[in-house]
Amino acid sequence: MKQEILKRDNFTCKKCGFRGKETELEIHHIIPKFEGGKDMIENLVTLCSICHKHAPDKGIEFKKYLKEKIDWKILDTFRKSDYSISRRTKKGMANTVKKENIFLKLQKVIN
Ligand SMILES: [Zn+2]
Repeated sequence: MKQEILKRDNFTCKKCGFRGKETELEIHHIIPKFEGGKDMIENLVTLCSICHKHAPDKGIEFKKYLKEKIDWKILDTFRKSDYSISRRTKKGMANTVKKENIFLKLQKVIN
């Protein structure tokens, strides 16, 4: 399903026009499921991670949101900082785990 939508939309975010890899793109429901939207190609649209993150939940608002086009170059700044934030978070988590392991080892030595 995702592949079909991505191909139809030419791997391009329908809001900002960002053309990306599959991992950089999200499939979004135009009418959300809680409003009765279906998992159908007509109800799905390709968005980049940034436009996806800021997309409104309601179908009507989302349609307006989609119509307000934005230049992907403007969003590129956010895209880069977004990636570095997630990288930092992952690194931070790994460090926490490492510290905890050291702490556990120390505790064993003490006991
Ligand atoms: Zn976008």
